[in-house]
Amino acid sequence: MVNDLRNALQQQQFSICLQPIIHLASGRIHKAESLIRWQHPERGMIAPAEFIPIAEEFGLIDAIGDWVFYESVRWLPSCIEIAGEDFQFSVNKSPVQFMREEDRSDWLVHLVKLHLHGNNLIIEITEGLLLNPIRQITDKLFKFRDAGVQIAIDDFGTGYSSLAYLKKFHVDYLKIDQSFVRDITTNPNDMALCEAIIVMAHKLGLQVTAEGVETAEQRDLLLAAGCDYAQGYYFARPLPP
Ligand code: C2E
Ligand code: CA
Ligand code: CA
Repeated sequence: MVNDLRNALQQQQFSICLQPIIHLASGRIHKAESLIRWQHPERGMIAPAEFIPIAEEFGLIDAIGDWVFYESVRWLPSCIEIAGEDFQFSVNKSPVQFMREEDRSDWLVHLVKLHLHGNNLIIEITEGLLLNPIRQITDKLFKFRDAGVQIAIDDFGTGYSSLAYLKKFHVDYLKIDQSFVRDITTNPNDMALCEAIIVMAHKLGLQVTAEGVETAEQRDLLLAAGCDYAQGYYFARPLPP
């Protein structure tokens, strides 16, 4: 798979899908998450959960992550035209990408070249990145923040949630992991967890996106709990741009 991954970029086997992120109170599409897709010539569609860890381990994630970013922003102007000036793309950035020595492919420079703003970009990171922050990582995060890029913590609640760092790094969004959202209509504990995350986030000045919303009942409960944004099959599956 490593060899196939090496060829995949050159042979244009990757594509992106976009999944709308809905502002719950208004029902409006306000953001979209970019998700990579790999169409393998023999094996068909391979899930990112299968190949991203391999790309990380074998030093291929930088090139792949950069490709996802460039491909995403290519679609940004038309999305802005449809959804409004404040539309944002949410791009996943692996912790491994933060570790590389020099950032040759400067995302911010690329945005400026296209006359786009940092405000139109959200970077999704995982909790682990903030747990043991080194200069290399924090400098990059602050640089993004200074350019108006927002930061979201992905899969919130599944890792070692280090609450102190939420404040220190001026995180903008918590994305409640799908595993907490899945059973909120039947499991009072999961509902209580979602409510607690929402209250805590709001007290800290952060906004909340619920992931994996698949039914109207889940949407209604999250809206009543004050959740800001939601994403999931109920609204739309990840779709070609
Ligand atoms: P993630 O960042 O948590 O992305 C959300 C995943 O949940 C996506 O899976 C999406 O298709 C799926 N999903 C969305 N709505 C629903 C729903 O209502 N129900 C259910 N059951 N699932 C839903 P996907 O596209 O297979 O991606 C899996 C993971 O792979 C992502 O999880 C992310 O960690 C990683 N990934 C995807 N694209 C990239 C990328 O460009 N760069 C990096 N570093 N990681 C990526
Ligand atoms: Ca994500
Ligand atoms: Ca997630």
